[in-house]
Formats: sequence, C-alpha cells, structure tokens
Amino acid sequence: MTHEPANILLVDDRRENLLALEAILEPLGHTLVSVTSSTDALKELLLHDFACILLDVQMPELDGFELAELIKQRERSQHIPIIFVTALSKEERHVFRGYSAGAVDYIFKPIDPDILRSKVSVFIELWEKGRQLQDQAEQLHRQELAALEEASEERYRQLADAMPQIVWTSDAAGATTYLNRRWFEYTGTTPEELGPNAWLTVVHPDDLPGVVARREQTLYSGETFEVEYRFRGADGAYRWHLGRAVPMRRGDGPIEFWIGTATDIHDRKLVEEQRAFIVAAGDVLARSLDYRETLRQVAELAAREIADWCTVHLVESDGAIVQIAVAHNDPTKVTFARELQERYPPSSESPTGAPAVIRTGEAELVPEITEAMLRAAAVDDLHYELIEQLGLSSYLCVPLKGRGEVLGAITLVASESGRHFGAEDLALVEELGRRIATAIENARLYREAEARAQAARVLATIGDGVFLVDRSGRIRLWNSAASRITGLAEGDVLGRTPETAVPGWETVAGLVPVAASGESARAENVPLQTNERELWLSISAVGFEDGTVYAFRDLTDERALETMRQDLVATVSHELRTPLAAIYGAALTLRRDDVDVEGELHDKLLEVIAEESDRLADIVNDLLLASQLDTGTLKANIERCDPAEIATLEVEATRVHLPDTVDLELRLADDLPSVAADAGQLRQVLGNLLENAVKYSPEGGTIRVVVEPSGRNVRFAITDMGLGVPPNEQRRIFEKFYRLDPDMTRGIGGTGLGLYICRELVRRVDGRIWVESDGSSGSTFIVELPQESLTPAVAAHRRISAPA
Ligand code: ADP
Repeated sequence: MTHEPANILLVDDRRENLLALEAILEPLGHTLVSVTSSTDALKELLLHDFACILLDVQMPELDGFELAELIKQRERSQHIPIIFVTALSKEERHVFRGYSAGAVDYIFKPIDPDILRSKVSVFIELWEKGRQLQDQAEQLHRQELAALEEASEERYRQLADAMPQIVWTSDAAGATTYLNRRWFEYTGTTPEELGPNAWLTVVHPDDLPGVVARREQTLYSGETFEVEYRFRGADGAYRWHLGRAVPMRRGDGPIEFWIGTATDIHDRKLVEEQRAFIVAAGDVLARSLDYRETLRQVAELAAREIADWCTVHLVESDGAIVQIAVAHNDPTKVTFARELQERYPPSSESPTGAPAVIRTGEAELVPEITEAMLRAAAVDDLHYELIEQLGLSSYLCVPLKGRGEVLGAITLVASESGRHFGAEDLALVEELGRRIATAIENARLYREAEARAQAARVLATIGDGVFLVDRSGRIRLWNSAASRITGLAEGDVLGRTPETAVPGWETVAGLVPVAASGESARAENVPLQTNERELWLSISAVGFEDGTVYAFRDLTDERALETMRQDLVATVSHELRTPLAAIYGAALTLRRDDVDVEGELHDKLLEVIAEESDRLADIVNDLLLASQLDTGTLKANIERCDPAEIATLEVEATRVHLPDTVDLELRLADDLPSVAADAGQLRQVLGNLLENAVKYSPEGGTIRVVVEPSGRNVRFAITDMGLGVPPNEQRRIFEKFYRLDPDMTRGIGGTGLGLYICRELVRRVDGRIWVESDGSSGSTFIVELPQESLTPAVAAHRRISAPA
C-alpha cells in the first residue's frame, strides 16, 4: 500500500491560529495548506484534492458555516470531511448548525493537540482507504477492459482468419504486424518466416517497383493504398490480387496502424485481359482482306500477350499445309526456330502438331512439356539439345474450323514466361480460332464474289452467247450476246425452259452433246429456226453440278458465205461451160477436114465463137467488177451526166439483140435535169436491167423504159411483163450470187451478179435501186439518182464519200 501524503486544508483568518494548527499537525507528515480567507480556501479546493478540511467558524465576510455549505454544494468537494475549529460556546444551537452545514466534527478551543491529531488521522486514514478502494476499483475496471479488448481482438483475429481474402495489419511505418490464415495457405509460407516485409517476397518482380513506390507514398500521405499486383502462390504460379489498405487512427490523431486486404481478382483480370486480347485480335483481322498479312500480325500479338511463341498454318488450295507465320518477341529466336525447322523439317505424319490438328480437327493441349516429350519429339541428340535450348514449358494447338472444313491451325507455345496453358487458355484460343476462320472465309468469299462479278462482266461483254440451264431445266442466265444473236430478250427467257422460251430448241437439244465438267466440250453446228429467220449456231454444252452451261456463236453469216461460195462455183462453172462448149464445138467444126466449111456456115461458126467469147468476157468482167466492188478498189468518176442520152444509148444497144417477141419503148420526160454519176457505170446499170427484163420475159411482151424527175432525183423505171419477183424475194435478188431459180428449171442462165453490181454501183452515187412486182405479172426495176443541180461542194463531198 502506498502512503502518499494527503493534503489537509487549514482555514483561519488569523495567522497565529494557523501557525498553531500547523505546529500540531506537522508530525502527521501530511501536506498542510493554510489559507486565511474563505475565498482562498475555495481557490485551493479547485486546485487540489484534500483529505480533510479544518475550518475556523468565525471569519469575516463568509463565516465557516457558509463556506462549509458552499463546499458541500460542489460535487468534487462534497465528501471531504470538515472539522470546525471554534472558540464559541458548545451551545446546542451552534453545534447543530455546524453539523447541518456538513461538519463531521468539532474541535473546541483551546485545542488539545493530541485529540486534534488523532481526529485528523482518522479522517486521513478514511480518505486513504477510500483512495485505495477507488484505485482497486479502477484497476479492476482496467483489467476487465483489457480482458474484453483481448476477447474482441481474438474475435477479430478469428474473423480475419476465416475470411477468404488475405488480411494483414502493419504498424504506422508499414512493418507487417499480422497476416491472416489465408495468407499462409495461399503463399505456403509459415508464421516463423514472417518478417516485417515478408509480403514483398511474393509480389511478381514486374509489379514490385510500382507496388513499393505506391506503398511508400501512402504511408507518407495516409491515403488509402490500392493496387493490383500478382502474388506467388504455394504452387509457384502467380495470381492477380487487388490490394487495399486503410490507415487507422484514434480520432484525429496520427495513424496508429494499417489494416489491409488482398482479394484474388485473377479470374476477372484474366477475363479482362482475354477480352482485350480478343478485341485487339479482332481489330487486326478486320483491318484488311489480305488475311495472310493479318494472320502474321495476330501471331505477333498472341506471342506478345498470351504466349511466347505463336505459329499459324493454313491449308492451301492444293491441300498442302503451309506455315504462314512464326512469331516471338525476340526476332533472333524466330530466326533460330526457322533454321531449326529447315534442318529438321517437321513431318506431316507426326501424330501431334499442326498437321495432326488439321487432319483430326481436334485441339491439343499440353499444360506441361516434359523432358520425355522433348526426347520423343527429337530426331537425334543434337536435335534434342537444340529444342531444349528453347526452354519450352507448355503447348496449345487449335484447328481453324471453317464451314465444313479445317482451314488451318494456330499454335501457342510458352517458354521464357514459364506459363502453363490450361482450359481457360484453350477456350480463349478456340475463340480466337473461330474469329480467324471467319476472317479467312470472309476474305475468300469476298474474293470469290469479286471473281464472280468479274466473270459476270466478262459474260456480259463477250461476243459468244452464253446461257445456263439449272438442274430443274430452267434458264438461269442469259447473256447479252445470247439476246443479240437470238433476238430473245433476257426477261423473256429467264425462269423458263429452253423448249418453251427458244423456238426450235427441241431440234437443237438432241444434237448438242453435254460434256462433263472439266472435259473439253465439242461444238456442233446446228440450225435454229427462230421466229424471224433461220440461224446457224456453233453450240457447245458443259454440265456442272448446278446444271448445264451452253455457249454458242452465230455462224449464220459464215454459213451464208459458205453457201454463196458453193453457189458461185456451181453457177460460174455452169455459166462458163455453156459458151466454152459452144466455142469449142464451133472451133472443132471449123477444123474438120472431112467437112467443107465454107461460105455461110463458116461465117456462122465464127460468129458463134465471137458471141460466146463476148459472153465469156461479160461473165469474167462481172466477176472482176464484183470483186472490185467487194474490195473497194473500183473508182467512180462522178460527173454531170445527161440521163436522156444515157437511157437512149442503152435502149438502142439492147434493141440490136431484141427477140422478136419483145417490144421496147422509151419515154423521156421533158426538161430532164442532169444527174451526178459515172456515165459508164450508169450505162452498165441500165444495160443489166434491160438485159434482165428481156431475159426474164420468156413469153415476150413490152418492155417500157421511163425516165422522169422525182423530187430532187431522176428516176429510171424499167417495166417488163415477164416472170415477176415474189415480194419476199425482192430484197434478196440484189445479194451476190442470189438467183430465184438457181437450178435453171426455166433454162434461164446467169451468175446472180448483175443486180448485186447494179445495187453497189447505184449506192456509190448516193442513189437507190429496188424492184416492184406482184410476183407474177412482170416487174418494174427502179433506179433513182440525185440531180446534178446541187452545189459543187456537195458534189465534191460525194466524191470523197464514195468508197475508195
Ligand atoms: P442473173 O440474171 O445472172 O441470174 P441477176 O443478179 O441479174 O443475176 O438477177 C438475179 C435474179 O433476179 C435472177 O436470177 C432472177 O431470178 C431475178 N430477176 C432479175 N431480173 C428479173 C426480172 N426482170 N424479172 C424477173 N426476175 C428477175
């Protein structure tokens, strides 16, 4: 028990009394505080704790009773025992007042020192007892509090230990003071290893600088510490955590300690990273249609973000598997890998690797590449040593699956990073694989569409007719050449069968062989009778999976030319043979010795030879002229000609050989204007027409020639009463070699060149020629030539425009 001295307050207005009291109480060894007024007493009571008060009853201003009452009123002093010191009588009245004012005792003067000392001692003892009790109570209270605190701390500890997060505390300077159970479970460390900075040893080296800097900053500033970092787990793998620490203070005081947590956000972080990677890869793939280039970029991205190595293989159109990309952050490693591949070319037969994945369409995942695996993959010891140098730790290969076929494979290999691929990585790369396959297919489809569009453009512009009949027998494509050649518009044939859409198709269909796809098609020349005319087509057909493609070329003109050539040979040879035979016969007769060819017969024979020679010459001239007209080498000397004069000359020339059955009339209009023409050629035209009029009037009749003005032209009309020309032949008789009666059933010969020559000559002077006939009662051939009253400039122009 401690005996600290107690304070005793002595109050008396007279110093000598105080001195007396002090002298008496001194021996008790307590602190005596003496004051001479009630005011000073109250002051002392405010400053100190007193065990007892000795109070003089009679004092000026405030007497002892009044002061006692004040002391009792104040809480802090109300329990202090008060002993009144008085010289007053021991009257009941006074004593009562003293006790009611709070006195515990009275000391009457003169004072007995022993009594005073013993009384005061009792009070001091009481006071000390009270103090002890109070101390004990306080101590007890503190102990209870400590126990309580300990219990709650234990509860917090248990709570912290039960938490799935890592929880820790540190002192104000940042030194670790507590780590919960989860920490030890996760890191595999023991509490014994716990140093003030133990946590730093498990932070990923890449994250460490940032974390330390941030921690120092927050320790200094008192801000909340929040950072994402990787903690190494007991298995050696790092997982992302979100670390948070808040400072704890009492009130506004300084930081007492820190409470921190670290929450595993690895899965979320991975998903974020994967999403970011997939988005970035998607961006790269979408950047261009040149997927070989974009795949190279994706491989580089993958090598940087999710692996150390990335390769991409593609299946080429010929089925070959080609590695189109190898990526690693370090280009020297790529070179090394390439050289290694060159030295040890990977076998396409290998049961693992990209070719195998492409073959089977199944992904491969090797979380941990073992030495045994490398040994099995190596061809020889050197090879093993070389691949060992690469330090491969994990491998993943995923097929690039398109619609219905495997387009290639993407391979990831981990090395320096020490990563081990798992199911998550597989899922990620499969997603990447799907995107790559879509990008490849899109690019190929685009290219195909381009090619198709090009093919469509070619189809539209080529000169050959092309059409497609689908498996149901309907026309699905009909190009513009097909429309032009057949005269059938696309809209009229699409969706219909060729039998219903193309007139005369039935006969053609049977004649055209359909070649199988890939075989060379054989073209057949077939006639096709359209509504308008007969066409000759060279047509071929190729079958393919969707139907049959027909391609055809219009041979009608070639065919006509061919026919014409045949006609020429037939007619010309016949026409030549007749005069030749006559000449030959006459000559033979003249040479005969046995017959005396004299006089009239001799002349007659010579005349035959001369006439037939003329005919021969005419035929040859016609042939020559026709050929000059064809080649454009005939020159026209256009000048002012008198139509009456030319018509008269030709009519008179015809009259010389006119058969008896034929009458020839010429009627010339008055004041005929002159025409712009080549006089010789105009005579030839009129001569031909007159000759025909005679020739094709086997029954004879009148031939009338009328020359008259017609508008700005001069018109020559030669009318006969002969065979006539049927209306549907009236255009064709002007074609080369065309004859109405090629087989000469009527015995009228000819080359079929006369009217052709007429037409060409008339055209060259801007004239027109045509025939009018009902086909039975004769015909009228009309030639119209422009008048020569036109300006010299126009005439000159004509000369120029006449074909050279
Ligand atoms: P060619 O008289 O040598 O046969 P043309 O070119 O002069 O050749 O005449 C072509 C065809 O036109 C003749 O074969 C004949 O059938 C027909 N033709 C020409 N002139 C007449 C006519 N005046 N009357 C009836 N038919 C004619």
